[in-house]
Amino acid sequence: MIVDTRTPDPKKFIKGATGDWEIVIGMEVHAQVSAKAKLFSGASAEFGGEPNDHVSLVDAAMPGMLPVINGFCVEQAVRTGLGLKAEINRYSVFDRKNYFYPDLPQGYQISQYKQPVVGEGTETIDMPDEGRVEVGIERLHLEQDAGKSMHDQHPSMSFVDLNRSGCALMEIVSKPDMRSADEAKAYVSKLRTIMRYLGTCDGNMEQGSLRADINVSVREPGGEFGTRCEIKNVNSIRFMGQAIEYEARRQIGILEDGGTVDQETRLFDARSGETRSMRSKEEAHDYRYFPDPDLLPLQIDEAMIDDIKASLPELPDEKKARLIASYSLSDYDADILIGEQASADFFELVAKGRDGKAAANWVINELFGRLNKEGRGISDSPVSADQLGAIVDLIDEGTISGKIAKELFEIVWQEGGDPRAIVEDRGMKQVTDTGAIEAAIDEIIAANAEKAEQVKDKPNMIGWFVGQVMKSTGGKANPQAVNQILRDKLGVE
Ligand code: ADP
Ligand code: MG
Repeated sequence: MIVDTRTPDPKKFIKGATGDWEIVIGMEVHAQVSAKAKLFSGASAEFGGEPNDHVSLVDAAMPGMLPVINGFCVEQAVRTGLGLKAEINRYSVFDRKNYFYPDLPQGYQISQYKQPVVGEGTETIDMPDEGRVEVGIERLHLEQDAGKSMHDQHPSMSFVDLNRSGCALMEIVSKPDMRSADEAKAYVSKLRTIMRYLGTCDGNMEQGSLRADINVSVREPGGEFGTRCEIKNVNSIRFMGQAIEYEARRQIGILEDGGTVDQETRLFDARSGETRSMRSKEEAHDYRYFPDPDLLPLQIDEAMIDDIKASLPELPDEKKARLIASYSLSDYDADILIGEQASADFFELVAKGRDGKAAANWVINELFGRLNKEGRGISDSPVSADQLGAIVDLIDEGTISGKIAKELFEIVWQEGGDPRAIVEDRGMKQVTDTGAIEAAIDEIIAANAEKAEQVKDKPNMIGWFVGQVMKSTGGKANPQAVNQILRDKLGVE
């Protein structure tokens, strides 16, 4: 029985020709377990390599080969379950899911069906305009990945690469708790963040380590759940959004024309931005699930769960709450900083003993902005946390202005070096010496006598004078001092 946990929110309704509609989404995410070896064999689970380089006799399903469970993969699944605040099932069972496909040499996939290793849990997502949303997790189970058929290598033959065959996947099934494409995107990206913190899946979508089947239906707001379509194997967060938007519109169109939505499996075509039918419910496989006689049921003891619990890192939600409380950050800034553990760590180094808001501003706006522009990650930032911290200190002490600080940041980015020494060596210090500022101001007033007269009636013109002084001092004059002295000399209140 599906329980509706959400109150309909008019902000998310889609306008149709006959009225409002609400989208309902449930996700089945496939996440490859970060492990050296496969789920039931010792072959390498590493991405890449020459085709069929990472294939043991078990993965190729040679007669008589027997699967042996990889305990580390089980631990990774339990770890992920704990990260999702989920029930860990002490007893679970591996089943055979039978179907024929050229890239599935066993003729069945070993998966978990009725008794998965992880049961119900929750993931929270923070949406900018609606606040915190809780998405229910239905289950997480372990299963084998299939190989890959290659149809573009030879004019008349298809080839098969079994490198991926037998790699451990976690299938994480959500409840149908999402109500917009944005929520679904936030759900997947948060799930990826959580698994990266846990170290259980690298979340690399280009390499296929994370992909999702998206279940979409529409209904009248708050009404009965509609018939869903399942969009298979979408491997980019942007495509997920596009697929959902398209699919919801398509279903609304059918219903408004008096038709009914057929339950079916569909594919998203990234080129056209459309979904198209792959197979209908009638053509759905009958997998003839049954417990795999080669594998004993999985029994997990308390000690293993306790050990994993004790080794969990601070998770994104907790980190966010702590950053907000300790550094007075906005929700928005905290969300950006916790996106990656390394970003949050970097920020905390910069913020330590300094003003949190200023540190966040420099880390997010200047550093992340610059890194994004060059497509680089925090781990290969040319500016270290110490260097950025020194820049923040120099501004805070009044040694340099904010404007000069940006130039200094650029120098450190390009050339490296100690920010304090650079300021000293290149004469970048802010001029707070009022004598020097006064001299510059006198010169500018003398050269612009007419304007100095007009400013008495138009006080806004003072900005022009400030600009001139800053220009003549190479941006180094202390802006507050300039403003004050100008006002005194020009007789502006
Ligand atoms: P199956 O195993 O046949 O794919 P499940 O009942 O396990 O079916 O559901 C798979 C996914 O579909 C889950 O993520 C669930 O939340 C989602 N789902 C179920 N009903 C709906 C619905 N009416 N609209 C959208 N998603 C749904
Ligand atoms: Mg399904």
